[in-house]
Amino acid sequence: MATYKAPLMLIGGEWTKGSGEPKEVINPATEEVIAMLPSATEADLDRALQSAQRGFREWQELSAEQRCDIIMRGCRILRERAAEIAPLITIEQGKPVEEARLEIIRAASIIEWDANEGRRAYGTIVPSDPGFNRYGIKLAIGPVAAFTPWNFPISSPGRKLGGALGAGCSVIIKSSEETPAATCALVQCLLDGGLPPEVINIVSGKSSMISAYLIASPVIRAITFTGSTPVGKHLAKLAAEAMKPVVMELGGHSPVIVFDDVDADKIARQAVAAKFRNAGQICTAPTRFIIQEKAHDAFVESFVKAASAIKVGNGLEADTQMGPLANSRRLRALEELVADARAKGATVATGGKRIGNRGYFFEPTVLTDVPDDADVVNVEPFGPIAPVVRFREFEEAIEIANRLPYGLCSYAFTNSQAYSHELAHRVESGIMSLNHFGTSQADTPFGGVKESGYGREGGYETLDAFMITKFVSQKITA
Ligand code: NAD
Repeated sequence: MATYKAPLMLIGGEWTKGSGEPKEVINPATEEVIAMLPSATEADLDRALQSAQRGFREWQELSAEQRCDIIMRGCRILRERAAEIAPLITIEQGKPVEEARLEIIRAASIIEWDANEGRRAYGTIVPSDPGFNRYGIKLAIGPVAAFTPWNFPISSPGRKLGGALGAGCSVIIKSSEETPAATCALVQCLLDGGLPPEVINIVSGKSSMISAYLIASPVIRAITFTGSTPVGKHLAKLAAEAMKPVVMELGGHSPVIVFDDVDADKIARQAVAAKFRNAGQICTAPTRFIIQEKAHDAFVESFVKAASAIKVGNGLEADTQMGPLANSRRLRALEELVADARAKGATVATGGKRIGNRGYFFEPTVLTDVPDDADVVNVEPFGPIAPVVRFREFEEAIEIANRLPYGLCSYAFTNSQAYSHELAHRVESGIMSLNHFGTSQADTPFGGVKESGYGREGGYETLDAFMITKFVSQKITA
């Protein structure tokens, strides 16, 4: 029987319920209240800020190698506890347990990469005039405020914590009010690995109050956010007023361009696995299927067949392939997207409605002949819904792919080298996968262009947002 450990805040090295009004945490598969979320007051946030300041100094007193060793020990513990933590993610977020376990392993690998990058944060030595030394050094920017969403309760906090800790910063993290316990479990692993307790503070409660308060505080030197574009724009404005750098990891609406020269049936079956993972609630999920005319019907036939065979259920059950949506907001949003598309002339090829009346379950849904003005091909759908449209010529596919303000991820399938080269250069996205549905890993850069945000997590750029380059010009004798 899986157990859920109720979330707490971590302030000044102590787990606490805080002094604000608690909020319910709901299991999306059963709609039961599983815990009460602690809520921070301004006084709690002040204590977290003071703690982050002390934690920053303490973390800075260690060498990069010592910091890396501590984080690596924490990650080993995280890997060891993966099977124990996975059901906790399922209970608060909904995804199947195996998907949750793989997310934990991925988070460990991201944090490990970031920790090791901290050991390679070299500066530069500039050729100098006789009697002078000129060099650039990389320094941790200072305490970081991190805000993470509910779709990846471990790996999203993992990206933020990994980058900040690897760079030598302390962090105050506010994870989603819907998936708070996973962050606590992750941080407990790092503490058990030897992380000085004040290096991470966890706060929870009212998002708008917490972000406004932390971003305005002079203690906080950088902000990192993953979530929707509207909230990202709001936080970017707050950060601009305080002149603070930000990483913005925002929404997407990833095009999938399939050309006539590939096996449409094979790609459709792969697409179903990628599309419906985490019930489609992934910022890099394939979301706009743009299929060349001759491949269209074969693609749709296989896609619909595989989508309608997906076993939807409680993620704690072993044979479940897709869990519920993470919250009731997504349920309403998806019902509206289907109704709007249908009213504008799209065909519901499979799915299209809620399953049952308890738990936020929604059918894997495929829409065909979707017109350009349907909401589902314009706003991020963030759910198990796949609109399919047709194209004739190469230029038309590029035009459809680039017509939205989003630019996070894109996919294309073709055996033409010339097309692949052209697509890689011309489709506007921060990430592109050609002929497969994998996206970025710990050692590759992750991030968007246009309204999908800016800044990169992962790869050799992973610490950039959390470090400054200081130029030192030294005359050797005074
Ligand atoms: P939302 O925009 O209200 O919230 C998104 C996330 O931001 C939540 O985790 C929330 O806790 C946090 N948040 C909201 N207001 C905040 C504030 N003022 N300060 C700090 N954090 C704040 O929407 P939602 O209903 O939770 O999700 C809806 C949309 O968000 C989805 O359709 C999807 O487009 C987007 N989303 C994107 C990602 C991603 O990975 N990029 C993740 C989750 C949600």
